[in-house]
Amino acid sequence: MKVVVTGGAGFIGANLCRALARAGATDVVAYDDLSTGVAENLDGTSARLVRGDVLDEESLRAEVAGAASIVHLAARPSVPRSLADPEASHRVNASGTVRVLEAARAEGVDHVVVASSSSVYGANPTLPKREDQVPMPVSPYAASKLATESYALAWQRSFGTGVLALRFFNVFGPLQPAGHAYAAVVPVFVDAARRGAPLPVHGDGSQTRDFTYVGTVAAVLAEAVVGRVCHDGPVNLAFGTRTSLLDLIGRLEGILGHPVARDHQPVRAGDVPHSQADSGVLRSLFADVEPVDLDAGLRATVDWF
Ligand code: NAD
Repeated sequence: MKVVVTGGAGFIGANLCRALARAGATDVVAYDDLSTGVAENLDGTSARLVRGDVLDEESLRAEVAGAASIVHLAARPSVPRSLADPEASHRVNASGTVRVLEAARAEGVDHVVVASSSSVYGANPTLPKREDQVPMPVSPYAASKLATESYALAWQRSFGTGVLALRFFNVFGPLQPAGHAYAAVVPVFVDAARRGAPLPVHGDGSQTRDFTYVGTVAAVLAEAVVGRVCHDGPVNLAFGTRTSLLDLIGRLEGILGHPVARDHQPVRAGDVPHSQADSGVLRSLFADVEPVDLDAGLRATVDWF
């Protein structure tokens, strides 16, 4: 079975390449322009890295030819990055998704899984987040992810491409980098704590997130590929937990065995105050996936650093 993972050298993509190998996929192509991903993430996997841009139609078509499924993870992630350059986010995340869907259609690939984001809920305050709530993006990144899932679902309805559009919530775990301006909160906290530096907290730390361990996300994605899972609507990929940043820090202190200092900073533009998934649709599609709990995932992340 050939599977193409766009963004396969990135954090979630490289974890997925490992999960696909465990699930028996023998021909995995990681298609990645290495803009934020790194080739070393694929060390120890049998995935073949192809350096290419999802906007490069010819190269993309050549690689997806003969694939049973495409998992489209390539994107310019991060809210602050999209505020700095909204058009670049649109090009890669929205136009890039159209290129992937068109390459799939041209080459007869009839199963495409795409990565959307909990950020699409944005200013809609209702908790937990259900897929039928009105999306209210508050950043260009969120708008581009809404475009990602909308295009995928439109291709299913217009052209019969089987799609699964998953809204990832805050994913964390091994291979997630810390040392750059747009890093996610868990690696930033773990990295600072390991260095004995204060943990940068935007706002008072009461904001909540539905943290999802990357091993759980990779397990869902691998099962989606193996089971050719499709759905006629977006699907939250998180399990309905709600953890504040202060609680997260307390858990890290417990794992590390010592207290950590905090450095409170201004709230960031585009950040949403609270996030928690309704996981009903996910559980109906993936009844066998048992999520790794937060403490176990944090321990694995601390060990990886
Ligand atoms: P990542 O930056 O590690 O992975 C993205 C990968 O895409 C990188 O390897 C990058 O080099 C590659 N890429 C970027 N532009 C490309 C292009 N034009 N052509 C080919 N490859 C390109 O980020 P991640 O956290 O692994 O995110 C994977 C996907 O999940 C993204 O679509 C992201 O929007 C989505 N997502 C992630 C989270 C999270 O918490 N990590 C939350 C919501 C959604």
